[in-house]
Amino acid sequence: MTTTRSPLTTDLLRALRPHQVLTHLSERLSYRYDAIQFGVTPLAVVLPETTADVVAAVRAAKAAGIPIIGRGAASGLSGGVTPLQESLVISFTRMTNLHIFPQRRGAVAQPGVVTLKVSEAAKPHGLMYPPDPASFRTSTIGGNLGENAGGPMCFKYGVTGDYVKAMEFVDVDGDVHRLTRDCYDLAGLLIGSEGTLGLITEATLRLIAPPKFSCTLMAHFAEVGQAAEAVSSAIAAGAVPSKLEFMDRACTNAVEDYMHLGLPREAEAVLLVDTDGNDSQVVDAELELVAQACGAAGGTVRRATTPAEADALWQARRSISPSLGRIRPQRMNEDIVVPRSSLPDVVREIRALGDASPFQLVQFGHIGDGNLHPNIMFDPRTESSEAVHELAREIALVAIRHGGVLSGEHGIGTMKKDFMRDAVDPVTLEVLRDVKRGLDAGNWLNPGKILPEAVSPSTLAGDS
Ligand SMILES: Cc1cc2nc3c(=O)[nH]c(=O)nc-3n(C[C@H](O)[C@H](O)[C@H](O)COP(=O)(O)OP(=O)(O)OC[C@H]3O[C@@H](n4cnc5c(N)ncnc54)[C@H](O)[C@@H]3O)c2cc1C
Repeated sequence: MTTTRSPLTTDLLRALRPHQVLTHLSERLSYRYDAIQFGVTPLAVVLPETTADVVAAVRAAKAAGIPIIGRGAASGLSGGVTPLQESLVISFTRMTNLHIFPQRRGAVAQPGVVTLKVSEAAKPHGLMYPPDPASFRTSTIGGNLGENAGGPMCFKYGVTGDYVKAMEFVDVDGDVHRLTRDCYDLAGLLIGSEGTLGLITEATLRLIAPPKFSCTLMAHFAEVGQAAEAVSSAIAAGAVPSKLEFMDRACTNAVEDYMHLGLPREAEAVLLVDTDGNDSQVVDAELELVAQACGAAGGTVRRATTPAEADALWQARRSISPSLGRIRPQRMNEDIVVPRSSLPDVVREIRALGDASPFQLVQFGHIGDGNLHPNIMFDPRTESSEAVHELAREIALVAIRHGGVLSGEHGIGTMKKDFMRDAVDPVTLEVLRDVKRGLDAGNWLNPGKILPEAVSPSTLAGDS
């Protein structure tokens, strides 16, 4: 049967307009995956345009006993939007209202607004929106809030959650709440909750004045530990780069094979660094601090002398995803965060894991935050996904052993939920379950994500 007719779809078609409810198989199929994973084809898909539409959809799903998954652009890298059973997907891509309030240095966005649109709309008012996930051309504000997305600029400017002043969300009963960030920061709780606690239907965002000047350098190193040392000493010396990115040798070579930018193929590590601010001399002096730290650690430094040269260097960073796509058809993109002081050991240990496995491992990341993205390259047609998962677990265990965490910005989703028992002590895990029970006792919202339990609604059993 290609078109679903069920009490749920009947209710949805009664409460919403026909073009907002997708029931035909050909329409539903593409709502079963995100950027890394396929799941179960949803029973129905709803395309709300207003908060009232979301309320109607949530109430219909709850009445029919069907789990609910909020979905943005599905660019997520942890399986956050993949349905694990027959579900209702609420896709926010038609909720795209965006208003800029220059006097308040703020914006009010519906969840389906594409991240880049906020920056574009802010620019004519002399304002900027700093959160800059590499997926900013496709990802949505709702998805960014769902994952608390970061990007190259997050070391200096912070992540998505740092720019949320208030929000509106619909709870599992279909009630609408407006939250600010004062007492019991409930908005903060929803940020990064991957659609498991409520559905965000509007966000009030903070905008800032953009810096007037920036400058850029690339440094390359014969040994990965030297790059990490350079980062630590530059920061200890007082530099706060606006961007601070790391690429290992495999990553640099993948980009060079694709883009031919003249990157140093022999280098074990490459750093790309920007400093910015309103005083050009200060910006320049700050980059010089970084250059000196890189030189002292044994690196070779190349400063960009023109904006075009700076842009060419950053093109290398922007090209990582398409470059890796040419190596193998699929990759599992890990997202660990470790203390900066552990970076040399962590990068080496992860490389050793890759060398001992049948898979190619590529590493890059926002090194200023200690956020690394080891990518396991594989072909799902010929290589075992269990072996990929096992290697991902070993990488997670390296991070945990060094006092790190499972996710910097991509979330836990389904990809890392099995590692939660390794990363979070049993008492704290139970507190997380209490939070989920407090807002969604029946486990109707995105069940099977984050917490390491079975998938079905009402299964929120503890470890005991
Ligand atoms: C090439 C590439 C590069 C990337 N680079 C980065 C990067 O630099 N930094 C980074 O942080 N991420 C990055 N990502 C990951 C991804 O783009 C981000 O996680 C992004 O925030 C997801 O946005 P989305 O709209 O696609 O959300 P989706 O993938 O659709 O959803 C993500 C999560 O948010 C939940 N959600 C969606 N909308 C709502 C809502 N309205 N209310 C409540 N929950 C909701 C979903 O249920 C899901 O759990 C990258 C992905 C790709 C493919």
